[in-house]
Amino acid sequence: MTNKMIIFSAPSGAGKTTIVRHLLRRFPALEFSISATTRARRGAEQHAKDYFFLTHDEFMERVQRGDFAEWEEVYPGLCYGTLKSEMERIWAKGHVIAFDIDVQGGLNLKRMYGAQALAVFVRPPSLEALRQRLERRGTDKPETVRERLDKATCELGFAAQFDVELVNDHLDDAKLRAEQLVAAFLSA
Ligand code: 5GP
Repeated sequence: MTNKMIIFSAPSGAGKTTIVRHLLRRFPALEFSISATTRARRGAEQHAKDYFFLTHDEFMERVQRGDFAEWEEVYPGLCYGTLKSEMERIWAKGHVIAFDIDVQGGLNLKRMYGAQALAVFVRPPSLEALRQRLERRGTDKPETVRERLDKATCELGFAAQFDVELVNDHLDDAKLRAEQLVAAFLSA
């Protein structure tokens, strides 16, 4: 099968980004889908490498033009989306797209692409473990941590709609299991 994708979705802080970065190093056939976002750049993030950073108006103009395969207001006032052009660019190279996107976005892509997509839900061992991770990460204010935990509670309800659930209890085990899932999907 050509034009495949792997989708990793999870509540914030569950560790999906770490797992996706590991997979990108491990499998040369995978290429990261660079999303568009209206959020501000953090630290050393670069335009067209980490994200396409757009103003709200630019983003909405592209929504109107039908440029997005999916998009979501992931946090109040902050939009994120997958550009169709980005997917075409990766598939034109014969690569498999790797997505690190939110739960609704992941499910939307899975509904659109069916068997072309492997959709993995990364589950934190518990909400308490998630709270501790978000606090330790230290990038969010207490109020933001609370908002993300509320959102996580809701997102856990969608886990069963993914192809697979991957519990991120011990990171090394989760990375290995993710490798096995991706290897099986790529060779199918
Ligand atoms: P962050 O701002 O921490 O980089 O990302 C916030 C959330 O937006 C994460 O859950 C991330 O996976 C999600 N996200 C990133 N890109 C996209 C996208 O293209 N579409 C959707 N729906 N969510 C995205």
